[in-house]
This record gives sequence, structure tokens and C-alpha cells, in this order.
Amino acid sequence: MVLEANIKAQLNQYMQMIENDIVLKVSAGDDSVSKDMLALVEELASMSSKITVEKAQLDRTPSFSVNRTGRTGEETGVTFAGVPLGHEFTSLVLALLQVSGRPPKVDQKIIDQIKNISGEYRFESYISLTCHNCPDVVQALNMMSVLNPNITHTMIDGAAYKSEVESKNIMAVPTVYLNGESFGSGRMTLEEILAKMGSGTDASELSDKDPFDVLVVGGGPAGASAAIYAARKGIRTGIVAERFGGQVLDTMSIENFISVKRTEGPKLAASLEEHVKDYEIDVMNLQRAKGLEKKDLFHLELENGAVLKSKTVILSTGARWRNVGVPGEQEFKNKGVAYCPHCDGPLFEGKDVAVIGGGNSGIEAAIDLAGIVNHVTVLEFAPELKADEVLQKRLYSLPNVTVVKNAQTKEITGDENVNGITYVDRETGEEKHVELQGVFVQIGLVPNTEWLPETVERNRIGEIAVDKRGETTIPGLFAAGDCTDGPYNQIIISMGSGANAALGAFDYLIRN
Ligand SMILES: Cc1cc2nc3c(=O)[nH]c(=O)nc-3n(C[C@H](O)[C@H](O)[C@H](O)COP(=O)(O)OP(=O)(O)OC[C@H]3O[C@@H](n4cnc5c(N)ncnc54)[C@H](O)[C@@H]3O)c2cc1C
Repeated sequence: MVLEANIKAQLNQYMQMIENDIVLKVSAGDDSVSKDMLALVEELASMSSKITVEKAQLDRTPSFSVNRTGRTGEETGVTFAGVPLGHEFTSLVLALLQVSGRPPKVDQKIIDQIKNISGEYRFESYISLTCHNCPDVVQALNMMSVLNPNITHTMIDGAAYKSEVESKNIMAVPTVYLNGESFGSGRMTLEEILAKMGSGTDASELSDKDPFDVLVVGGGPAGASAAIYAARKGIRTGIVAERFGGQVLDTMSIENFISVKRTEGPKLAASLEEHVKDYEIDVMNLQRAKGLEKKDLFHLELENGAVLKSKTVILSTGARWRNVGVPGEQEFKNKGVAYCPHCDGPLFEGKDVAVIGGGNSGIEAAIDLAGIVNHVTVLEFAPELKADEVLQKRLYSLPNVTVVKNAQTKEITGDENVNGITYVDRETGEEKHVELQGVFVQIGLVPNTEWLPETVERNRIGEIAVDKRGETTIPGLFAAGDCTDGPYNQIIISMGSGANAALGAFDYLIRN
């Protein structure tokens, strides 16, 4: 049995939801991955009379495709190369249901958009089974393949196709190829993929909108909370977000969101979006703001040229990973320089890596990586690690970790990929070089506020100054969450400050 009893019990419920017959075409050899894959598809077939298995010769072995049968018999182009367990198990279940005829849970507008795409699109996504950002991409591409016969998608497990991954020089997942050319890497939503294919929202459609009472910029916890609080006052509310969900999308473990014992970032992000969509809030996702001006109303300019107008604005643009800013970092991004240990850690299996940063995120990353890679070198600029004591204790108990304090990173070296890191020992001034294949940068965050006009007062590191009601130095302009000068950056704090700013904005609207 490949599937554990509890997973099988859950799966049984989904199997009841299969609508029409499907056939799994399997290309298998004698290798161990093929054997595991065969065991999985046979187990699936044993659980539903609507699933049959056929031997086939597909482009990759081991792999299997999920197809319709009978009158509607048609190759969908949905293929799994490897064994889609781990984080990809949900992708497999959704593929089975959607191929069988269950409609995907997305807006009809998006379904029509996908169906209308013309031309041939052959997508390949390289993933790891431990990557939490990969399923979104796999599921979006699978859904597109199911809906449009011109689109095919193969999910490729990097661990099962090591030589292919190495020959393509892939060092970050998910990495997507379209018709044999690199298409993109990192987490991408369905809407982002469609926008990248040239099928995004028109600027004039946005500019034609009536002015808002409250326009929220940023769709993380702060922005979602602000939008809900504003909409509940019955006022015209809009939210513009470059990537709905914000930073929580980058973490797999949240244990301090009070009343929820434990959750995963992408799950929380999905709940935020669902909650926002429960109200009359105009959600403008995948739109990046690039300018703000106060005239009679606030004018918010978007990157696509559209201008939105509003009586009040709440800035909740959060923060992003800080770059270390040394030679080699940009050149070797995705070629050994990485920022997401959960996603990219498995690609460094058995290799030597460094983690730059000795705070909580750096030490958590080092502990995670130590279980996968050969050796981890932690480089901390300060004389002491800043991570919580409990994390430090765990770190020092690991046999394959070296901690270097007082280390100033000077350069990330490499040829095609990273081959080492050079740092200066700040005590002795001596320059040292460590040979390794990967560098994970974990040195904190920088606020997304550089696009704002100088009139919006900010502190030394760019965080927006706000008063008790979340108002900035410009009347009617509010801010909340990680982009502000509050002392602590946490989900619950961002949500609280988003609510506070929305109530502040409502108060402003009543008085003005
Ligand atoms: C790896 C990791 C793990 C974490 N773990 C925890 C945890 O366990 N518990 C906890 O409480 N906190 C945790 N945090 C911190 C928490 O995620 C943040 O404090 C919180 O997400 C901040 O919310 P926010 O809405 O202010 O900003 P963000 O979450 O950063 O959201 C900002 C939003 O603004 C958008 N945006 C940015 N610029 C623009 C622009 N120009 N135009 C339009 N939109 C824009 C972004 O796309 C995004 O939608 C973690 C953070 C990280 C990175």
C-alpha cells in the first residue's frame, strides 16, 4: 500500500465525486520510481470503478497522464512525471476530479479567458514534493490543460529527474518552461500565469471605475483586514494588490495566529481572499501601484498606466526579503542563491550551503537545511546570533552545521552556478573563502514604500510614520502593517492595524 490509511480514507470521499470515466495512461520501467508510481495508480484504480489504467509510451518514463474516455475521449495533456505525493497529492486529486468533469472552483470569467486562448502551449513545471509554492503552479497549469485542448502540462519531480534538472541548470522550484523556453520561476497564481501569457486586465477597464471611498493598497493580512472593516461600514471599498496574500504565502508553519493552533501560509492567504470576497469589495489583484498624488481626490497610478481615484487611501504594502547586496547575489539568483529554504532546500540535497543571517528565520532555515544538505555554514554579521534561545540550542546540537559570527559577506562566487562565498572576519580583518554550492539569504525585510512621494513621512529604513489612528502625515492617507514604523511585524498585529486604519479612514470620511 502506497497511501497511508488516513489519507486513503479522505481520498475515498473524493473518489465518490468523480463524475465520468477516466483513464490513466502509464509509462513505466523497472526503476524504483516506476514501481512506486504503478503502485499508486493501481491503488487509485482499486478505489473507483471509474478509473482504469492503461500501459502507454509517454515522452518521459516514469510518468502517467490523466485522460477522459469514451465518447468524449481526449488526451487532456495533464501528465505527472514522478510520483505526485507530498505537497503534490492535492494536485493529483484535483486533476482526477477536473478531468472527470467536475468544474474547477474559479470565476466563470477566468474559465472563459482560458478557453479562448489560441495557439499551442506546452508547459513543463519542475517541482519538489516538499515545495509549498509548487502546487499552486501545478494546479493552475493542470486546470488550463483540462479546459483548453491547445494547452498541455507535465509536472516533473526534480528528485526523479535529476539529470534533466541538472542539464537545464534548474536550482529553484517551481521552474516553468513553455514550449521548451524558460517561462518563470517561483510561486505563480493562475491569474499571474494568464497575465504573463498576455491575457491580463485592460488598463482602461480600471481607469473607468468610479472613485472609491476607501482604496486599500496591498493584499496581505493588513490590507485584507482594512478592506473588510471598511466594507462593513457600507462604503465603496477597493483593494489593489500585486500578490494577494502577501508574506504569509512564504511560510508553511504559523502557530501564533491566536485561535488557530496551527496553519499553513497559503491556507491562511486563501482564507483571507475568501473572507474579502464575501463582501462588496472590488479586488484588483496582480496590479502594482507606482505613484500616489493628492488632488481633490487621491490618484493612485498603477504600473499598467491605469489611475484609480479615492477619497481615502490605506497603504498596506508590507515588506519583502532584504538582499545582501554583494557581488554575485543578482548574477546567481536561482543559480545557487535562494531565499526560500522550504522550496529550494531539496535541490541542494547532499551539497554544501551557507545561510546568511543569524536571526530567527536564518536559524530556522539552517535547521531545516541541515536535514537535507551535507553541510550548512551560518554567517552572522554580529558577534552573537539573534535567534531565540530554543532555536540556537537545536542548531548547536546538529553535527553538520558551522556557525561563523562577526562575518561580513563580501562576495558570492561562481561560474555558471554558485561555487563559494567570501567573507571578512570582522575581528581580524582576514578574508576567508568557503567552497559551497548554495547560499540562502535570510537577513530580514525591507518595507515596500519606495514608490511613494517624498511628502509621505518615513523613518530611516523607509517605514511609514503613522499616528494612533493609523493616519500618515497626509490627511486622508492611512497606513497599516509591516510597511509602517510599528515595532513588531506579525500577522495578528498587521490585521489589528489594518482594522484600526479602516476605522480611522471611516472617521475621516464622516468628518470631511
Ligand atoms: C517566512 C516568513 C514567516 C513568517 N512567519 C510568521 C508567523 O509564524 N507568525 C506571524 O505572526 N508572522 C509571521 N511572519 C510575518 C507576517 O507574515 C507579516 O508580519 C505579515 O504578513 C505582514 O502583513 P502585511 O499585510 O503588513 O504585509 P505583507 O504580508 O507583506 O503584504 C503586503 C501586500 O502588499 C502588496 N504590495 C506590495 N507592494 C505593492 C505595490 N506597490 N502595489 C500593490 N501592492 C503591493 C503585496 O503584494 C502584498 O499583497 C512571517 C513572515 C515571513 C516572511
